[in-house]
Amino acid sequence: MRILVLNSGSSSIKYKLFDMTERSVLASGLLERIGEATSSLTHGARNGRGEMTEIRKTGRIPDHRTGMRVIVEALSASGAKGNEPGLDGIGHRVVHGGEDFTEPTFIDETVLDVIRKNVPLAPLHNPANLIGIEVALETAPHLPQVAVFDTAFHQSIPPRAFHYAIPEEMYARYRVRRYGFHGTSHQYVAGRAAAFLKRPLESLNLITLHLGNGASVTAVEKGRCVDTSMGMTPLEGLIMGTRCGDIDPAVHFYLLRETGRTPDELDSLFNKESGLKGICGTNDMREVLEKAGAGDDRARLAVDMYCYRVKKYIGAYLAALGSVDALVFTAGIGERAAPIRELCCRGLTGLGIAMDPEKNRAGAAPPIEIQAEGSPVSILVIATDEELQIAEQTFALIRQREEAGNG
Ligand code: ADP
Repeated sequence: MRILVLNSGSSSIKYKLFDMTERSVLASGLLERIGEATSSLTHGARNGRGEMTEIRKTGRIPDHRTGMRVIVEALSASGAKGNEPGLDGIGHRVVHGGEDFTEPTFIDETVLDVIRKNVPLAPLHNPANLIGIEVALETAPHLPQVAVFDTAFHQSIPPRAFHYAIPEEMYARYRVRRYGFHGTSHQYVAGRAAAFLKRPLESLNLITLHLGNGASVTAVEKGRCVDTSMGMTPLEGLIMGTRCGDIDPAVHFYLLRETGRTPDELDSLFNKESGLKGICGTNDMREVLEKAGAGDDRARLAVDMYCYRVKKYIGAYLAALGSVDALVFTAGIGERAAPIRELCCRGLTGLGIAMDPEKNRAGAAPPIEIQAEGSPVSILVIATDEELQIAEQTFALIRQREEAGNG
């Protein structure tokens, strides 16, 4: 069984083709700068000898429709045709499922309508995801297609954690509440952590830390998400590459009045110019660490603030869960920035979280455990793989339907 995973953004389409028998990647690629003169496709595929070979094509691709055609051609050329036997289903990443989707779902007209209804909640992402789905439905109308939502895993969060303390009308009428994002990643690493610990997920309490360009923490109780740091939008919570995370909301009103900037300009200030970039001029944690190591005060402050914020969330989620079996670090920073992991856990021994600094710094490939001997809480580093999770969920749904059809 072969599953194609599509992640369609406003000017790009990322894709990965999986062989689900072996959970292996047959082909993958990225089409960038759709609509510009310099569109480019980077496509990698496994050849007969199992080696990945890469091709690059450049030249204007005017829209997603043409983009999908180019991708299907690239896949066909490497032996996996778009709408013929060889491909069994397509899994689409969809950013915002609102309150409507708690699980992956087969795409039909009703589902498309609900994704459209949620456009105001994710005005940049959902329309781009929708274009990808619509074009894929046109290109491969007979294939089962599944939507996997970034918000779905967080739909088990109880009202006390998802409501904001504002008048009810804002929720009832405008759907203002906390939704959370990165759900696919948190769910995936929670499952991998349970496998690593050789214990059923339903018996574990976990704090999963997705520290990439975007960053969020999730409290997972017996396999179910009970709180997460991102909110109605991905702006809330941790300090990120370019997002400020938690901030007094009154700062916005103050800056509106004092600077004369428009709401859209402030949106951009908090989402694109803040976080690590706002504090020390770069959003790339490798550079931040280098600069901090070289004695740059702003970079040191950025690292200090970043880790302090993570630590506060670890404390909060420890309290929310009552007891925790493991912390799970994942994504670019979580998987690779040992000094950040160390600072996030420093001083938490009293809470049962004790790291072994040597194991942490040894640089072994994940999955690894890096807690000190006798630490009541395990500290794991697990590589996330959102595409594989989408492929798994798509595959499971197709299998379920086939089995129901046969039974
Ligand atoms: P995205 O959210 O875009 O998928 P990633 O999960 O790839 O992002 O994470 C990107 C972040 O990971 C960047 O800040 C990058 O600097 C950081 N990163 C990647 N490798 C390392 C490393 N070896 N040391 C420190 N930070 C790293």
